[in-house]
Amino acid sequence: MDTLISRAVTDLKHARTAVALTGAGISIESGIPPFRGKGGLWERFDPMEIAHIDAFVADPALVWRVLVKELKEVIDRALPNDGHKGLARMERMGILKTVITQNVDGLHQAAGSTDVIEFHGTFAWQRCTECETRVPTRDVDASVLPPRCICGGILRPDAVLFGEMIPPIALTRSQEESSQCDVMLVVGTSALVQPAAFMPVIAQQSGATVIEINPEPTPLTGRISKFLVAGKAGQIMNEILSEVSSLIQSKKQ
Ligand SMILES: [Zn+2]
Repeated sequence: MDTLISRAVTDLKHARTAVALTGAGISIESGIPPFRGKGGLWERFDPMEIAHIDAFVADPALVWRVLVKELKEVIDRALPNDGHKGLARMERMGILKTVITQNVDGLHQAAGSTDVIEFHGTFAWQRCTECETRVPTRDVDASVLPPRCICGGILRPDAVLFGEMIPPIALTRSQEESSQCDVMLVVGTSALVQPAAFMPVIAQQSGATVIEINPEPTPLTGRISKFLVAGKAGQIMNEILSEVSSLIQSKKQ
């Protein structure tokens, strides 16, 4: 048995409150490319031109044309992978309390997680710029752009666009959960984008054990995180869960 997996399981088993912070890395196995880095959306498009609130206000149809192609079509057919499902299972087992995510794909909820803080809002829902009605992105008819609400208002992503603030409730709750947890799993994020990247720092400074599940070391590794379990989120989560399950089984016998 991988000793780092065993360490993670031991820490989780002893935790009173565990939370997870997730990023783009957890959704790659669901076919959702990250925004940043090689092959990412921001390598091909200037976010200030297609994902800034001013760009949206100036020409929503133009922004929508890119969003539909690059996000709606991808997210409409994406399914949660073992990483999302593993965190949802940990919640059902009473091990994990909350997922704080930087992702906008809605896959944690699709996997069954019920307490998800969406730092950057969600692209799985659109909201009317006039009446605030929310519509699942899957149900949005994108044949005419920009898509409109039944009231006639233009629909926009319920996500945080560049030039907009992180929803204050999401920020406050994330800070609370980070300062109150005793284990934080950092999954699939290089922890470079503020203010989400500060959550592991808050957790560590409040005495929590920060465990990273990432393919490679990040700026947190060895500084903020106690250890890194290197690998793909889905696979590592399966290994952790199988060891947790066998512990629970042996406890029952
Ligand atoms: Zn409306």
